[in-house]
Amino acid sequence: MTPVVGVLGLQGAVEPHCRALKECGAEPRIVRKPEEIAACDALIIPGGESTTMGILMERLGLRQALLDHVHAGKPTFGTCAGMILMAKEIVGSDQPRLGVMDVRVVRNSFGRQVDSFEADIPVPSLGEPPFHAVFIRAPHIESVGPEVEVLATLDDRIVLAQQGPLLAAAFHPELTEDRRIHNYFLELLNK
Ligand code: GLN
Repeated sequence: MTPVVGVLGLQGAVEPHCRALKECGAEPRIVRKPEEIAACDALIIPGGESTTMGILMERLGLRQALLDHVHAGKPTFGTCAGMILMAKEIVGSDQPRLGVMDVRVVRNSFGRQVDSFEADIPVPSLGEPPFHAVFIRAPHIESVGPEVEVLATLDDRIVLAQQGPLLAAAFHPELTEDRRIHNYFLELLNK
C-alpha cells in the first residue's frame, strides 16, 4: 500500500516536499484541516517562518490533530521551522509550538551575515557520500534529551536528530535532488 504522507500546508516550502515524496513512492497530500491530518500515515512540517506557522496552527485549531498524530506513534518530520515547532524548548522564545521532541533549539543560529549557505555534512546512518544540505536562516539543536539520537552535526551543532518516529532537520533536504533523508523518513513507517 502506498503510504499517504501529509505536508502541513500553512506556509513555507510545501511543494518541494510533495515532489520529493512522490519520487520516493509515497502519496503526498497537502493538509490544512484536522480531519486531513488524521487521514495521514506520516506527516511533514515544512520550513518557513515558525512564528507564523505556530500562530496559524493555533488559529486553525490544528494543535490537537497534530498532537494526536504524534501520540499515535506516526512518523513526523520537521524541517527547519518545522523542527522549531516540534521542539520542547526554543531558546529565548515562548512562541506557540507542539513541543513533542525533547530538544532545545536556537533559532537563526548561523549568524545574520550568512543567512543561507550550503554544506556537505556526513550522516553516518545514510552512508557515503555526505549529504549536501541547504541551510536558510537555519536553527540548530543545542542539546537533546536521553531518547534523542543525533544523526548529524555541523561544526559541533546538531542539525539532524531522531526520537523514535520523530525526525528533525535544521536544513532543507527537499531542496536538493538527494532523496536519502526522505527515504529514511519513509522507512520509519515500517518500524
Ligand atoms: N528562521 C526561521 C524560523 O526561525 C526558519 C527558517 C526556515 O524554515 N528555513 O522560523
